[in-house]
Amino acid sequence: MKSLYIGGLVFDGRAEPKEGLGVVVEDGKIARIAPAGEFSGFSGTRIDTSGCTLMPGLIDCHVHLVLPGEPSVMASIRSHSVQDTVMRGLELAQSTLRGGFTAVRDLGGRDYIEISIRETINAGFQLGPTIHCAGKVICMTGGHGWFLGREADGPLDVVKAVRENIKAGADHIKFIATGGVATPNVDPMLAQLTLEEISAGIAEAQRFGRKSTAHAQGAPGILNAVRGGIHSIEHGFQITDEVMAEMIKRNVYLVATLAALDRTLSKPGALPYYILDKGQRFYEMHRQSTLKFYKAGGKLALGTDAGTPFNYHGENAQELKLLVDLGISPIDAIRAGTGNAADLIGFTDRGYVKEGYWADLLLVKGNPAKDIAAAADRANHRQVLKSGIDVHATLGPPLKPQAPRFPQLAPPTF
Ligand SMILES: [Zn+2]
Repeated sequence: MKSLYIGGLVFDGRAEPKEGLGVVVEDGKIARIAPAGEFSGFSGTRIDTSGCTLMPGLIDCHVHLVLPGEPSVMASIRSHSVQDTVMRGLELAQSTLRGGFTAVRDLGGRDYIEISIRETINAGFQLGPTIHCAGKVICMTGGHGWFLGREADGPLDVVKAVRENIKAGADHIKFIATGGVATPNVDPMLAQLTLEEISAGIAEAQRFGRKSTAHAQGAPGILNAVRGGIHSIEHGFQITDEVMAEMIKRNVYLVATLAALDRTLSKPGALPYYILDKGQRFYEMHRQSTLKFYKAGGKLALGTDAGTPFNYHGENAQELKLLVDLGISPIDAIRAGTGNAADLIGFTDRGYVKEGYWADLLLVKGNPAKDIAAAADRANHRQVLKSGIDVHATLGPPLKPQAPRFPQLAPPTF
């Protein structure tokens, strides 16, 4: 079946949106992009996109499919069985897709559950986003995220942890370079894995063609990761002049995840004390670091940290608005969520509107390069296509957070 999208703007993931183009989707792929005049005798389905923009499906470079957005990440891990987390994780992946995100990078799973979710989607048994998985985060003993990660001490043990993740099917590797907000008894400003440990791990990942990323908040830990050869920095609360210069020189992306603290702090009364305290202390520093890095010409890729407190899967597009509210131009925000994200992850077959690429597409009302609400507000999403499949027609429209898709089959009886 052939479909032609014609009449509106096309944003390819990089350049300014263009008028006057037709885009043909056939067999799940983008078959042809050409001036509208070429399609006067087109015989398939014609979709009038007047007043809309056809753009790549959005990509989130930082999610946790095994976390549903509960107030305490550690309690959440402890209170849900592995079995429940599998079933729920699939639903959370599908919520993400409904919300306009056709690909995600999972940056910290649990017992490799997210890798099974990836497999069932890749095999075509379920419709979901393309998922790139880190497997278990690699942290020092007692490091940030230890309750779901792989604790490793010393370069040799870190190398072994990298090999274990690759054995389980990881697409990339995540190192914990500093403390974090959601773990008690760790300080976001202090380095955790050492330069030697991170360097050894990154080199091992690279030997097997895997990119690496680092959870890194304070400057000393960011520098360890960057000097060790990291491809992206997650969060980056403390971007000093030295950090900024090193990151830009080495082409390291920043995945800021503004939604994490924004959403976490939206319900302060519900949080464990250590999350509230650290969130409040670092929120403004984080925002200013992100803006400073952007203004200096640093590369941003979109990430939300979906799954952290009140930061729900399916609402990932809110990160676009947070970026623009901070002072990032709308077109750079949508570049962060499309082309830049695809480049960072290493996709060569999706993430752009380009002939031969998979038809992972988002059709939005308005022009998101002018008004970010066109892409950031799900009410403006007209169609989400995953490999040419109409997502809302197949899985239903976006849901409210935590809402079931269907009525309960039977009320609980005891
Ligand atoms: Zn995270």
